[in-house]
Amino acid sequence: MESANLHHSVFNIEEKRRELEQQGLTRVEVKRRVEDRYRMFSKKGAFTCLCCGKTVNMNLTKDAGRPFYFRHNDESECSYSQNTKTYEKQLSKLEDPSKKDIGLTIFREILEGELKPYGITIDRGYHYKKKLSFIPDFIIQFPHSDKRWAVDYFTAIGQGANSRSYARHLSQRMKTYEEEGFKVFSFVDSSWLSFLEETNKGTLLNAETHVTSKNHEDDLWDTFFNENIQGELLDFFKIETGFDSGECDTRNIAYVDINNRHCTILRFLPISKHERNITFYKLSSSVVPLTKALKVNAEQDQFILSEENEEEKRNNFLEEIIERKNNSLQSRKC
Ligand SMILES: [Zn+2]
Repeated sequence: MESANLHHSVFNIEEKRRELEQQGLTRVEVKRRVEDRYRMFSKKGAFTCLCCGKTVNMNLTKDAGRPFYFRHNDESECSYSQNTKTYEKQLSKLEDPSKKDIGLTIFREILEGELKPYGITIDRGYHYKKKLSFIPDFIIQFPHSDKRWAVDYFTAIGQGANSRSYARHLSQRMKTYEEEGFKVFSFVDSSWLSFLEETNKGTLLNAETHVTSKNHEDDLWDTFFNENIQGELLDFFKIETGFDSGECDTRNIAYVDINNRHCTILRFLPISKHERNITFYKLSSSVVPLTKALKVNAEQDQFILSEENEEEKRNNFLEEIIERKNNSLQSRKC
């Protein structure tokens, strides 16, 4: 556990470690500095568990790269200590730790800035007061209600040969969140974005399909598509793109470029399924600053993400298909 109570406020030992390391101190120096300043509090039982209130002991690992942590003095487990273990196991197995570390610091900073003024609290997922089998990066709790959101930033969605088991992991993760009553927001690191401008098509791993979502704007795209693309135009679109499903099912996925603090919302139409992945056709994309994407809408039921009316994009999409169809007819006549 990286945090404990000290004198009625949260004390994060990992934050302290990072702070000192950023000042250029070696591991030995960092360890000595923390020992000198805080060991006596640990000995006096001043650090207590954020979850169960038991006394915890400060542990300073000497190996560089390993975390500092707190542990219950009596070595018992509570939901915080169990959730921390589960989270760390998932982290070391499934994530890119340095990217995750930077990313979560930025997410936290932005979320706190955007949500705290509304009295909404942001906490790390492992602080949840109940044992979970999958731990979100952040849990957002709304005041005067039991409304809870789970927010994840995925850094290594593929995992090479294990992509099938990772897809299963994500599918179970989403199921657990749902059962727990969380509304889910997933963000994928933009290094996973694979899309070709020239064909307007891209590939999603099966794992990625589990972190897509469908909101009001996607429904509007479905309605627009079904009303406007019919008959010969639909036949043309099917031949041109390989779209062979009878139903239009628009979905969206959010990619985050953490260095530039940008979020890309990609709206797409799945056109074919393969063993490890799906091929999609892009309907629209919007690049927005992460600070804008992580604002909460007026109804407080959704992050804004790329809130904009895509009516114009839909009309352009239709015009372009009609134009391509006419061009193909003309070239056939010539
Ligand atoms: Zn505890």
